[in-house]
Amino acid sequence: MLAAGPALALDILSLRIGPHPGKTRLVFELSGQTEFRSFMLANPVRLVVDMPDFNWRAGSIIRPPGTGVKDIRQGPLQPGISRVVIDLEQPMLIGSAFVLPRKDGQPDRLVIDFSSASEAAFVKSRSIVHGRLKVPGSSAGPGGNSMIAPAASSTVAGNIRPPEPGPAPQKTQAPKTAVPSSQRPLIVIDAGHGGDDPGALGHQGLKEKNITLAMARDLKKHLEDTGRYRVMLTRDKDVFIRLSQRVAIARAKKADLFISLHADSINRDGVRGASIYTLSEIASDKETEKLAARENLSDAIAGIDLSHEDQDVANILVDLAMRDTMNQSKFFANKTVSALKGGGVRLLENTHRYAGFAVLKAPDIPSVLIELGYMSNNQESILLSQPDYRARIARALVNSIDSYFETVSQ
Ligand code: ZN
Repeated sequence: MLAAGPALALDILSLRIGPHPGKTRLVFELSGQTEFRSFMLANPVRLVVDMPDFNWRAGSIIRPPGTGVKDIRQGPLQPGISRVVIDLEQPMLIGSAFVLPRKDGQPDRLVIDFSSASEAAFVKSRSIVHGRLKVPGSSAGPGGNSMIAPAASSTVAGNIRPPEPGPAPQKTQAPKTAVPSSQRPLIVIDAGHGGDDPGALGHQGLKEKNITLAMARDLKKHLEDTGRYRVMLTRDKDVFIRLSQRVAIARAKKADLFISLHADSINRDGVRGASIYTLSEIASDKETEKLAARENLSDAIAGIDLSHEDQDVANILVDLAMRDTMNQSKFFANKTVSALKGGGVRLLENTHRYAGFAVLKAPDIPSVLIELGYMSNNQESILLSQPDYRARIARALVNSIDSYFETVSQ
């Protein structure tokens, strides 16, 4: 399963899981001393242990009953760092985590004790990070991987902090213009469809592919005008790009945020309003499942053989990183719903929905798909073709992006 890379310094020789009175103890036996960091993640409840790249030589792990451990996965997280994820049956908290140097024939060990916690205690304390492993990018601003895991300080949230109730903070961060261009977050905007694939069709020959491109260009300009972001489009002309390629572009450029723009169609012409989607293995509702199927058809429309496309995303190791990215994506989606609402953009009910959109499967980049409105509604397709209306949407999206990065860079 794991790629056999060059010889790595650290071996994990075994992992023992032991039930003890009032707690569960994990003991990793190691080939040498190491730094680590460990913390809890929610939804589902997981214990995470990060270490420098390791070889997993522990084989399969015995999980005695009564330890609360459901499953164990491990694999590379990012260059130089590997991760062990322990799925837990219920909320738990780490009591202590420490290394024991080799002694009396025993190898170097990493010991982590954890015990059951109330939901409230879990929510309050899960973000505490044990250990002092430095993970590149995790405390250097909102870079891609910084959002996967907390910075190695004692109280930074494991996931991004949940949105604060109440209004977004006023923008008082004037010195932001001082940020050198290369350090600004990179936002990749993906204009849906293109070329042979027109997407949905609207009033008097309006095409989704042209609406999305116009919106992408407008949004790019609005974002660049703030001086706070770098922006890249997956396409800046009427060309076909396959879905996996759109994801690949964002990954190759190490985007901090990926926004795919679409405009849907439905056979009920009274339906209108914008909606926003994040990735999930299970669709939030039947309509969204069908929508994802339609959007995922894009490649098939252009006659591309998809039989070998899914290998990457099926990769369980990638999934390790992906789960946290999904939380970031949801967080941004929620920001966007409020910003669109506040900006006077008409919204669909249950504005934020979930499904398996192929274009949202970058494991390390928070990604959303926005259906700007319905091409099948004459009024809305006409509105979307008008620069004024697109400017309204662009302003709202700039607000949500500002608010998102202000939170993640704290
Ligand atoms: Zn579309």
